Amino acid sequence: MRSLDQQQELKKGMDEIKKENPNFHVGESCIGEICPVDNCGKDATHKVGEEILYGDPSPDRHNLTSYVCCEHYQKIFGKVAELQCKVRKHDLYEKLASGVADSKP
Ligand SMILES: [Zn+2]
Ligand SMILES: [Zn+2]
Repeated sequence: MRSLDQQQELKKGMDEIKKENPNFHVGESCIGEICPVDNCGKDATHKVGEEILYGDPSPDRHNLTSYVCCEHYQKIFGKVAELQCKVRKHDLYEKLASGVADSKP
């Protein structure tokens, strides 16, 4: 999880990106979350959730969820996910996030 200062910086940066890129979108709840897959450590751009299948002994429980980066999202969902990341300009968020990370170690 990033600091509150960094989260605010990310939010501000996202507003700037949005002005020039109307298709840009990263869900607000991703802001500040870090991808946990294989100690990846990149800023998350997606949230994935478990589907609770028919017959689960605890069907009313909350499904498991995780915030992941584009690379790991694409490893799960493949080519379609790659296209989605491209259309939504997630490369711009990655650039923004790495700048924010560098500014406040
Ligand atoms: Zn990752
Ligand atoms: Zn993405």
